[in-house]
Amino acid sequence: MLSTLRTPIGLTHYAMRSTPTLRTAGDLVAAGLISPDRHDAIAAVEGRYAMALTPAMRALIEQSDDPIGRQFIPDPAELISATHETSDPIADDALSPIKGVVHRYPDRALLKPLLVCPVYCRFCFRREHVGPDGGLLTEDELQSAYRWFADRPEIREVILTGGDPLMLSPRRLGAIIAALAAIPHIELLRVHTRVPTADPSRVTDALADAMQAAKPVWLAVHANHAREFTSQARAALGRILVRGIPLLGQSVLLRGVNDSAEALEALFRAMLSARVKPYYLHQLDPAPGTARFHVPIEEGRRLLAALRGRVTGLAWPTYVLDIPGGHGKVPVGPDYLDSEDQVRDASGHGHRLARPSPPV
Ligand code: SF4
Repeated sequence: MLSTLRTPIGLTHYAMRSTPTLRTAGDLVAAGLISPDRHDAIAAVEGRYAMALTPAMRALIEQSDDPIGRQFIPDPAELISATHETSDPIADDALSPIKGVVHRYPDRALLKPLLVCPVYCRFCFRREHVGPDGGLLTEDELQSAYRWFADRPEIREVILTGGDPLMLSPRRLGAIIAALAAIPHIELLRVHTRVPTADPSRVTDALADAMQAAKPVWLAVHANHAREFTSQARAALGRILVRGIPLLGQSVLLRGVNDSAEALEALFRAMLSARVKPYYLHQLDPAPGTARFHVPIEEGRRLLAALRGRVTGLAWPTYVLDIPGGHGKVPVGPDYLDSEDQVRDASGHGHRLARPSPPV
């Protein structure tokens, strides 16, 4: 399957607009991002897992192992899987009742209309599936998905993900959003995307218009480092926000990218200044060959605790673990209640809570 991932398909002229996107080890050598003697080792990785580096992200890389380069430049370690890593860490496949749909929670489900992304993150939990060959649902497959949602009144929210739904043309994205919004019991739509930071020029007025619907639409923006919020990215987010679409931030805790209290603080402050509410900080999912990004949960809890009292509560996301095997997300952040009578403040000092006394 992976050999087919290397050939970009002509999804639409929108998908092909970013022709300077780097897609091969040779492109990385030509761009000066890797030395020629690393070409063959990187080419072996790129033959296994899709690679793409947009001009917007390329412009932010100062060294190949800096917090931006690390996210997108392949590394030979990706071909070595740790024993706890699996190809489908959160069981998307097992929980897919119909092509393109994943149903994990009672009141909501995912729709993956395509598997193309603007960039391919080296830590992606769907890395065995995403790639430039498309994975684009046909019109018949989309109609089947709409019928599946329409037949289940318990589904109140549809989350468009992929791949990246903003890699669709405005016409196709608008048609999908309109079809879902027309289902009476669907109350809410959510779109998960990397595009506003990775390829902000794709967020045209037409693409932003396509997300306007008769039902509330929320946009969850995936970003992992403060530098990703460039002026172009902020302008792209602004084009979406002015259309009444609230913005949420979604990040992954990653070694060498954002694994310090300072980096996380800068990231969440950058989100807020771009009018993006930090929503989730994800513990890394154990996808194959991603161990170099792993940060232990205990360390993550300490990092989050270091932000308490130091940054506004608006900047605090929920630190979550997607339990391997498809058992859903749970919060794993620090807690402050030692017992019913004892609570710790942000500095770690304990305080006894007065128990309400019975009225006299
Ligand atoms: S944009 Fe999202 S789906 Fe695509 S490679 Fe990155 S993490 Fe995976």
